Amino acid sequence: MTATPTTVTPIRVIDVIRKKRDGRELSRAEIEALVGGYTRGEIPDYQASAWLMATLLKGMTRGETAILTDTMLRSGEVLDFSDLPSQKIDKHSTGGVGDKTSLVLAPVAAAGGLTVPMISGRGLGHTGGTLDKLESIPGFNVNLPVARFRKVLETCGCAMIGQTAEIAPADRKLYALRDVTGTVESPFLICASIMSKKLAEGIDGLVLDVKTGSGAFMKKEEDAAYLAELMVETGERMGKKMAALLTDMDQPLGCHVGNALEVVEVLDVLRGKGPEDLRELCHELAGWMFLLGDRVATVEAGKQLSKELIDSGKALQKFREMVELQDGDARVVDDPRRLPEAQHKADVVSPQGGYITAIQCEQAGTACVIIGGGRERKEDSVDPAVGFVLHKKVGDPVSAGEPLCSVHYNSEARGARARTLLQESYRIGDTPPANLRPLVHRVITKSGEKN
Ligand code: URA
Repeated sequence: MTATPTTVTPIRVIDVIRKKRDGRELSRAEIEALVGGYTRGEIPDYQASAWLMATLLKGMTRGETAILTDTMLRSGEVLDFSDLPSQKIDKHSTGGVGDKTSLVLAPVAAAGGLTVPMISGRGLGHTGGTLDKLESIPGFNVNLPVARFRKVLETCGCAMIGQTAEIAPADRKLYALRDVTGTVESPFLICASIMSKKLAEGIDGLVLDVKTGSGAFMKKEEDAAYLAELMVETGERMGKKMAALLTDMDQPLGCHVGNALEVVEVLDVLRGKGPEDLRELCHELAGWMFLLGDRVATVEAGKQLSKELIDSGKALQKFREMVELQDGDARVVDDPRRLPEAQHKADVVSPQGGYITAIQCEQAGTACVIIGGGRERKEDSVDPAVGFVLHKKVGDPVSAGEPLCSVHYNSEARGARARTLLQESYRIGDTPPANLRPLVHRVITKSGEKN
């Protein structure tokens, strides 16, 4: 007797989009067909965008999120650095304005004996991206093939690259599409994007900086906590040591926003200078990296180690070494004027005296995108030189006519729009704001456990 051949009905992309649009749960086969098809270039941007928007609006179950993360992870290679003797620990942020901590943390952690194989992203929505910041250093190569990535790691303990055709290619494509289609702010898509990259890195542990506030993708604390738990749970399921810090993004972090300007501030912090909030957050995150990597017994001891590595100049030296190994012009370390500089600079001044009570942080981030610091279309290139420097932050006193911030720009029309947005993003009152939130709101270390 001959067996009747079974026919497998091919999955139609339009049916998957409609199913998600109607709020139904997708199967593994459907998710794989969509992600695989888009990564291979068989599904066009417009269909992938429709599915992303349906997902953003209708959500995903935990099961779908796990399948999406796994599918995106397996779209490329999973690296294995188990032969390297030290602990492999990384850090990733959910995205913020002026959030440049990765550029400080990778060299600090490497100087402290950890290995940091960091795969980062570009600017996303109104937030900046580590890769765009690094590329403002002339020559810096974020597209190392795996063999060179390994070589840099073996030589200096940290290396920073982007998603490639080999590692996390699905995230590379979906990330760029989400950036320009208003589909970033989904905890499920953020979890799959971050965790697929991070699980591909061959790490032992991961510290997550989950932002909350007006400049974060998760504006409300409970949404940020949900995202943190989702990611911690995903990492632990894969045997990784995890910690998620919920941190404040109600105003830009530090004072510099914009790619090259942020590198200048990173160099300040690596020299033991720079703004207090940025320094404090770097030490806090480094403390957790050292704890997860078994270099210290407590976070406090990890913070202390981080301070010592900066004070001794060892972290700055690591940064210099990494820049050289990744083809960057390491002379910028001692002479930041070698970084790209914008042609024009103009101040935004305060219309009244009083105190800064708030800075609408997403609007400030959007101002940076508008002057060319981020992308409005997938094919846009970023202008490394533009951005702004804050002279006043929340709680500061201000007099009428005093500069709030200086905008660095190359196009008059865009510069004018950015100045208006920045002016509007500042809220000024007669009295100082009460009950300012701490930088670190809480820490989620195990699924559901908060301290
Ligand atoms: N960082 C990522 O890598 N992906 C996101 O979706 C958001 C922040």
